[in-house]
Amino acid sequence: MIKFLSAKSLSAYSGKTALLRVDLNITPGYFDNYRIDAILPTVNFLAKYRIKTILLSHRGRPQNKINISDVKKDNFFPDFQNAENKNLSLKPLVKIISKKINKRVIFLNNFNFLKIKEEVKKTKNLVFLLENLRFLKGEEENDLKFAKSLSLLGDFYVNDAFAVSHRENASTVGICNYLPSYAGFLMKKEIENLDKAMKNFKRPLVVIIGGAKIKDKLGVLNYFWDKADYFLLGGGPANTFLKAKGEKIGKSLADKEAIDKIRKYLKSEKIILPSDFKVWDSRILDIGRETVLQYQRIIQNSNTVIWNGPMGFFEKKGFEMGTFGIWKAVLENKKAKIIVVGGGETITSLQKFENNKPGFKINKNLFISTGGGAMLEYLSGKNLPGIKAISLN
Ligand code: ADP
Ligand code: MG
Repeated sequence: MIKFLSAKSLSAYSGKTALLRVDLNITPGYFDNYRIDAILPTVNFLAKYRIKTILLSHRGRPQNKINISDVKKDNFFPDFQNAENKNLSLKPLVKIISKKINKRVIFLNNFNFLKIKEEVKKTKNLVFLLENLRFLKGEEENDLKFAKSLSLLGDFYVNDAFAVSHRENASTVGICNYLPSYAGFLMKKEIENLDKAMKNFKRPLVVIIGGAKIKDKLGVLNYFWDKADYFLLGGGPANTFLKAKGEKIGKSLADKEAIDKIRKYLKSEKIILPSDFKVWDSRILDIGRETVLQYQRIIQNSNTVIWNGPMGFFEKKGFEMGTFGIWKAVLENKKAKIIVVGGGETITSLQKFENNKPGFKINKNLFISTGGGAMLEYLSGKNLPGIKAISLN
């Protein structure tokens, strides 16, 4: 059973320190910032109860990791400034979070855990941010010795990093062996909304699959195969289906290795493929107008909508119409019980749509997941390691 964070659960931790795993794997200034807003309820809640909170996160994929056992000297600052790691510090997030919560955020820029513990104890400040955990060996390997030393920084653990919960890392899984563990408010919201789409959906149910690789999305196709009424395909997945059907797709993006895996779906009437396209240099780069209209009609008549992956190469001018058309239908569907949308580029496309067509409103029934890969795995029916870990302790 997952323990959810609540006022009651906090009564045991008065004057103690929380380790709050969040997902700050973002580029400041980009639309990704919605991921910061998403963690604020938990951060503010802990602060309201005067719990000291150390935010834990990773950012990017740093190379040249350092060993935690090398961090002994008082002023040991690892070489974060080497070429690969230069832009992966979490420091720029300090100001942004601080402004949003209207409180000082103390940056912990070294990994001398003993020193950090003293520092946290001494000050009256409530919110701290530890430097990029992936600068250290052990985090991505879920090294238990490392997880244990990390756990010593706090008295209990809260996971609000749904987007990383498909990864078995020290700060998402290993740490739960050593601390009482809870799901934060964002984690709760993700689980509740995704469960609603998976188990409490109302038909007609439509699953929209676009983006780059069908391989990443086969689990969702499989889970919803007997539940969904329609699968609307765009992007690389549509091209791969077309190719499997023997159509000529020129140099279009497709996943040749997945062709054998999708054969069993090919003949079903549930699978809706684009009927017209926008092509450039023998590449299908977007779905065409007829297809957009057809997809919009299906979305408008659906009571549950699940969407991952842009319909085309929307980053390139002239090839955004398909993706924008889906956004329009999704945002105009006010009768659906639940609409779940997720994926890094899919959400970026919402920002583009927003800049292009100002004034639209996000419906109450629309849930924007902060997870890309994690959302796809969850929607495949998998028990994610990060969620399993907080269920055990
Ligand atoms: P998400 O990040 O939302 O999960 P993906 O990572 O699967 O989505 O794929 C997003 C990328 O797929 C976008 O950058 C988009 O440009 C690209 N894409 C979509 N359709 C096409 C296409 N027809 N040709 C080339 N690239 C495409
Ligand atoms: Mg992506």
